Amino acid sequence: MEHHMSYFQKHRDITESRINNFYNSSMWNSVNIQSILFNATSSGSPHVELKVWSAPDQDRPTFAYASKQEYRPAKVGDTFGPSWSTHWFHVTVRIPKDDPKWVGQEIQFHFDAGCEGMIWTEDGRVEQGLTGGGMHVDYLLTPKSSANEPERRFYIEIACNGLFGNALGTTINPPDPNRYFKLSEAKLAAVNREAINLLRDIDVLRGMFSSLPSESPQAWRALKVANEIVNVFDLARPDESVRRGRELAKEVLSSRSGEATHLITAIGNCHIDTAWLWPFDETKRKVARSWSTQLQFMKRYPDYMFAASQAQQFEWLKQLYPELFGRVVEMAKAGQFVPIGATWVEMDCNLPSGESLVRQFLLGQRFFEQHFGQRCKVFWLPDTFGYSSQLPQIVRLADAKYFFTQKLSWNNINKFPHTTFRWIGLDNSWVLTHMTPTETYAASVSVDELLRNVQNHHDIGYSNESLLLYGHGDGGGGPMEDMLERLARLKDVDPLPRVKHGHPNDFYESIERQAKELVSWKGELYLEFHRGTYTSQAHNKQSNRQAEFLLRDAELLSIIAATLRSQSHHYYGLTDRDHRAMFPEAARGTFEYPIDELNRLWKLVCLNQFHDVIPGSSIEMVYKDSARMYTDIIASGKRIRKDALDAILGDGDEDSASLLSAIAVVNTCGWERTEIIIAPLPSGDKRVAQYVSALAESAVVFEATGAVEETGRYWPAGTTLGYVAAVKIPGASVHAVDLSEQTDVVPVDAYRTTSKDNNNRFVLENLYVRATFDDGGRLVSFVDRRVDREVVPEGFRGNQLQLYDDQPIYWDAWDIEIYHLEKYRELAPGKVQVVETGPLVARLLVEVEISPESSLKQWITLTATSPRLEFTTQVDWHETYKCLKVEFPWDIVSDFATYETQFGHIERPTHRNSSWDLAKFEVCGHKFFDLSEYGYGVALLNDCKYGHSVEGNRMRISLLRSPKHPDAHCDMGRHTFRYAVYPHLGSFNESEVVPEAYKFNVPLHLSRVQADLAAHLRATRPIFTITRPGRWPATSRQSHSNPPNIVLDTVKRAEDDPDAIVVRMYEAYGGHARVQLGSCLNIRKATYCNLLEDETATPNVEQDSKAPPPPSPIKNQWIVDSDGGGKMDITFKPFQVVSVKLYLNN
Ligand SMILES: [Zn+2]
Repeated sequence: MEHHMSYFQKHRDITESRINNFYNSSMWNSVNIQSILFNATSSGSPHVELKVWSAPDQDRPTFAYASKQEYRPAKVGDTFGPSWSTHWFHVTVRIPKDDPKWVGQEIQFHFDAGCEGMIWTEDGRVEQGLTGGGMHVDYLLTPKSSANEPERRFYIEIACNGLFGNALGTTINPPDPNRYFKLSEAKLAAVNREAINLLRDIDVLRGMFSSLPSESPQAWRALKVANEIVNVFDLARPDESVRRGRELAKEVLSSRSGEATHLITAIGNCHIDTAWLWPFDETKRKVARSWSTQLQFMKRYPDYMFAASQAQQFEWLKQLYPELFGRVVEMAKAGQFVPIGATWVEMDCNLPSGESLVRQFLLGQRFFEQHFGQRCKVFWLPDTFGYSSQLPQIVRLADAKYFFTQKLSWNNINKFPHTTFRWIGLDNSWVLTHMTPTETYAASVSVDELLRNVQNHHDIGYSNESLLLYGHGDGGGGPMEDMLERLARLKDVDPLPRVKHGHPNDFYESIERQAKELVSWKGELYLEFHRGTYTSQAHNKQSNRQAEFLLRDAELLSIIAATLRSQSHHYYGLTDRDHRAMFPEAARGTFEYPIDELNRLWKLVCLNQFHDVIPGSSIEMVYKDSARMYTDIIASGKRIRKDALDAILGDGDEDSASLLSAIAVVNTCGWERTEIIIAPLPSGDKRVAQYVSALAESAVVFEATGAVEETGRYWPAGTTLGYVAAVKIPGASVHAVDLSEQTDVVPVDAYRTTSKDNNNRFVLENLYVRATFDDGGRLVSFVDRRVDREVVPEGFRGNQLQLYDDQPIYWDAWDIEIYHLEKYRELAPGKVQVVETGPLVARLLVEVEISPESSLKQWITLTATSPRLEFTTQVDWHETYKCLKVEFPWDIVSDFATYETQFGHIERPTHRNSSWDLAKFEVCGHKFFDLSEYGYGVALLNDCKYGHSVEGNRMRISLLRSPKHPDAHCDMGRHTFRYAVYPHLGSFNESEVVPEAYKFNVPLHLSRVQADLAAHLRATRPIFTITRPGRWPATSRQSHSNPPNIVLDTVKRAEDDPDAIVVRMYEAYGGHARVQLGSCLNIRKATYCNLLEDETATPNVEQDSKAPPPPSPIKNQWIVDSDGGGKMDITFKPFQVVSVKLYLNN
């Protein structure tokens, strides 16, 4: 076919449309390039025969089981369901013989059931995944069929869910339980590979003429060449047309870029959410599907590299698909499969505790090291809803040094201004950080994306490189053939950025080599989006908090119990004989540190911190699974704690006469504590100041505070309970209550005033504070008696419950949007009564109606020994698109408020000056947030809440939300949680807020013990002490021992050494500190270590990767005292996390 003249440039739009039509698969596909992509296709018998077996209910049987079942005939057009069910096909294919259309050709099998699937060989080997719905439905049978191609048989396991689960309508709708999927295609296809190659060429040309600036000569050339390709296309001579077309395309595709061209390192990936719009069990199959598909591509494209993160997903693969895991390990050795990320899952970074983040890295890095021979250098977290300011330090201490994300591109108020930069954390550690300018982790290697990597690169003046993450996520199978073919063509095409396959490590190392300077960003990477994730799915967050503290106690108590045999005389000052008499079991050394079980529990905790689980953005099925896991964690954690306490304290004395002199108290916090506890007491004892008279009435409080249920042992039924002051229980100690101290306690009181001008007020008053509530339960006055200061501003009310309209723009469970602040109502006053009147505990009960459907009960408690005012709250919650908050206004002036974060705290503005300040209208805090001015402050503490805000002088806690997507029943039902008001003298930095928030979350453990042991316990030494050397004036609030700023956070067994203990501490207020860590244990050696428990010469993060200092020797830091104990000196920098390894003498 000849042509003479074209005027394509005069009607560019028409030319573009013409080319698009030539490429299009839906219209004109009988005459355009699409019509020649396959030489032949064949469906149905005898070439394709199908049989099927349907697994019952929602079972996901193994191959071994499924392949042995009875299969029935099946055909194209059959439907399969309902949602989440599994069906196994047995497929027989016979490639036609003696037909030149088939013989010698590349033969594919196409199978599309509209849902996800996986192909297995008859002997149970995973071949590859299928996405369905027209996306990745092909399976290569042979690249070149022979004349005598044998019959092929294989299995296809289909799962009745789409790539994003089973929602109908919008993606985040709750799943439809009754979705059915139709088998629309099961056919053989003989592929015209050169025609497909031409299709890919045109694909790139289209990208160029549509994405390059219209005036660009290269865009014009691409358009001209593409137009020519259409002109030379002749259906009568398809092979000739394709050959000429490809020659034409080559003109454009072979022209090279210049020296200064931007360089893109492309890495395949398939971001698989560990649970989200589908349950955990489906994720296990998604991993096998996507990764097996990628192994096939690695064979076809030898320079192709693919990265996968989340050690948990690797472990699932290893457990469920060991043969496939073996192939992954092989391809990792070959360098094509890149394990990345360093953590157990891609976790949320707002809500998990500091130690949880540590365990994410500890479990993750250990897995990668064990199975792939190396740790990960890149902390890989493309998709989490904000990044804690302590991550740079944690990443460094976990032997990684680079950080990758892109999520801040989702900010809905301010554009984050950096791409490649030093991210500086709270303690001034930094990590080299890159946020891909593509602004997605699911790119497709389009021309448009390559150009975007330049346009969106905010630091291109410092570093002319970027990362491109491409591939379908979540079961889309990762990179597909079209992406890899585009990448092959786009490696170096004028004037586009160059793009190459590469390992992310190499990318970061290249920046380190080439970028002479980089800009910095200090502090948290706050995501200006998804602010509702601090609050949604309240039970899940509560279980996480409970599990974190339970495992902390279980580990610390297990250390004590496990070391008792050799060390009991250090703990109790007992002779060996006395010890054997009192602890027959422990003396035999029966308690073994349950390291495997603790690791199993930590893995579950870490799993549930996945970035769609703990934030509250998953479907209901996920939270049912998650609740089951937490039940397991909490039951097992309590069992460990109880076993350890039994081993530590021996058998209790049953003689009730001796009860009072025989109550052991275990304090797992690092600080001394004085508080009121509930203990079993002999009834009628004159020394007892206050019996618990109405247990049923206040059972909620006891349960919520851990006063009864949480203690190491359950009291026998019918036991009389009373309040007891536990005075000055040393930190990290096993101690006993001394009843003689009860008399020193100044009583607390609760009463109702009925005077004329102060009508119907309810007052809780102790030595420290006087809290006055109106008859609706609102705090109308709060006087700190220590300084005679009224803290509630005139005319304002604290403990004011508020109900907000909470309808975000789209991401329902994720977002609480800024305009919610404009629309709320204050709840009407409740009913108040006095339920306990002291002298040790005073308590009010408030009952509030939230709406006709929802109600709230609140027990407000003040004890004799503390200024802390506690609110134990029980809510029956049945709302739709409402958010419940509580507000406390204080007479305090400050431009910023302080919020606890992992291993420290951060400050955020209380004003809304700039758009950056404004964007933080709802923020994450852990156990406390605080508003202080010079000389005075008030902190609000909580036992499971994270969504906070401070606007001016108003502090608010977001208590509950009620989103309906993707879980239609999110947070409906009964909730019990606690918050507290803690007023303090001095500003936050001079306060005891950090210890107080710990104590609020960690109950003392009580147990009856034998009376003579109790006497020993009162004289016993703490297991660990933290003291400040030097002289301190007696009046100093910064006392000599138990400094509030050094937190004894974790005490655990070293992973690889049964004789070593790891103790992790941190500086919580942001100052330098020099302390001594002391212990009564017989320790022979102490060294610093990092979070992976590698011994190190110093506790410090190694910062300058360009010129690391020569390694210094690892020294024994332990100084043995004459009495058998010992100590080590530790210097902390502000917010520093220090881990030490203590080796016991046996
Ligand atoms: Zn994700």
